[in-house]
Amino acid sequence: MDYQGIIEDIIKEIQPFTSHGKVADYIPEMAKVDPSKFGITIDVIDEGIYSAGDAREKFSIQSVSKVFSLTIAHSLVGESIWERVKVEPSGSPFNSLVQLEYENGIPRNPFINAGAIVIADIMLSNLPDSKASFIEFVEQISGISGLAYNENVAKSEMDSGFRNIALAYFLKSYGNLDNDVMEVLDLYFHMCALEMTCEELAKAFLFYAKHGSSIKFDTIKVTPSQVKRTNALMQTCGFYDESGEFTFTVGLPGKSGVGGGVAAIYPQRYSVAVWGPKLNKKGNSVLGMKALELLTSKSEMSIF
Ligand code: GLU
Repeated sequence: MDYQGIIEDIIKEIQPFTSHGKVADYIPEMAKVDPSKFGITIDVIDEGIYSAGDAREKFSIQSVSKVFSLTIAHSLVGESIWERVKVEPSGSPFNSLVQLEYENGIPRNPFINAGAIVIADIMLSNLPDSKASFIEFVEQISGISGLAYNENVAKSEMDSGFRNIALAYFLKSYGNLDNDVMEVLDLYFHMCALEMTCEELAKAFLFYAKHGSSIKFDTIKVTPSQVKRTNALMQTCGFYDESGEFTFTVGLPGKSGVGGGVAAIYPQRYSVAVWGPKLNKKGNSVLGMKALELLTSKSEMSIF
């Protein structure tokens, strides 16, 4: 398969869509991102890595981080995790308060904000230094070093993330947060503010594409079965309330973030990461969605 040729064609074919969407300016620091960026990397198992565009530029991975934090929390507490967060698609915006009230403080899934805040709470209760362990985990699975949080983005969210702060207090009122609310949010915002390039993100997601591999360091021991469950959740819940649309048009398990990044996997074959900062109304990268639709169409490979 000529992956390099395919991604170069994709860059040409997405050009008519570059004017669509807008950057996530509800986080003031993120409003500064150059909206014209676009990068793509495919990491093919036992073959190699193919990149085009701005694939070596760092961006804020935002909710793509929820895949990593879920993997860590699941490894720490095992199946009891599902008592505090469910595994159903939300069908609601990622920061919905009303759904949390209807469901008595148990978030629908770990990839909406409320669910990821509970996951951050589990990490804080079980790790001596959650922020350091989170970076160490991502470095271990990707084989890269020197990853860092963008402190300005984390602070910007702490200063303006009133809805997330409300969600966290709401969870606390239902007894679904054990730690101090602000400490939980500090960890949550930092994980969202991790910066990675498309190449780095694709390398990290190769771990999920190969879902047979195990990892073990300190108290974090991930089993293939746990990775399988994370992949299933990416398929059903990875794209806010557009997860059905993504499954329909692209057909890969993946996760998006409001930084415009999307990471996805073709199990046992490849991982792919794309970045285009302008988002559609549901919060997904316009160019990212289009590029991945073109990728699965052009490569004529589908998991379905
Ligand atoms: N840090 C963002 C927030 O909590 C993450 C949202 C996202 O990427 O979905 O609003």
